[in-house]
Amino acid sequence: MRPEDVDIVVNTHLHDDHVGWNTRLEGRDWVPTFPNATYLMPQRDFEYWRPENLHNTVFGRGNQNVYEDSIDPVVEAGLVETWDESYTIDSHLRLELAPGHTPGASIIHLESGADRAIFAGDLLHGAIQVHEPHINSCFEEDEEGARASRARMFAHAADNNALVLPAHLPGHGAFAMRRRGSGFELTDWAPFACT
Ligand SMILES: [Zn+2]
Repeated sequence: MRPEDVDIVVNTHLHDDHVGWNTRLEGRDWVPTFPNATYLMPQRDFEYWRPENLHNTVFGRGNQNVYEDSIDPVVEAGLVETWDESYTIDSHLRLELAPGHTPGASIIHLESGADRAIFAGDLLHGAIQVHEPHINSCFEEDEEGARASRARMFAHAADNNALVLPAHLPGHGAFAMRRRGSGFELTDWAPFACT
């Protein structure tokens, strides 16, 4: 598959480490990496992280220049569609707002027949959060919102036998989980080859 063949790019939220490949450097210009794609961005993050709103001091100045490098070039190319609450891509893929980590933080539900999976975005950063979902990372914009969204996502995964695909755990894979006490536990691990 070539970059030109990609038709959808999903930014689960607009932190710098989740938007970097929106663009690539061509000479001295940032240009869309996927020139024929629609880039889906949560409306709440799209507003919150605008440079003029001065929220770019998360983890020091870590999120500064994100718009100049990775957002504005795809906006100017007419490739961005923003959404709020939920967004249906097709009969298998649906985006859902899960705020807290950022105002527009979101997860992706995948359904195919009886199979279920959730792309967790940044709702978890470490495996301990499965057992202790109230533990936040140091990157949450809204601490209580992050806890609530994480617990809701885990409950949905456990109750619907959905695999969880984490973005920040080591390795490549997904895990199944179930309820245990006030938290949850892993029941199975599905490793994927890195290609
Ligand atoms: Zn993040």
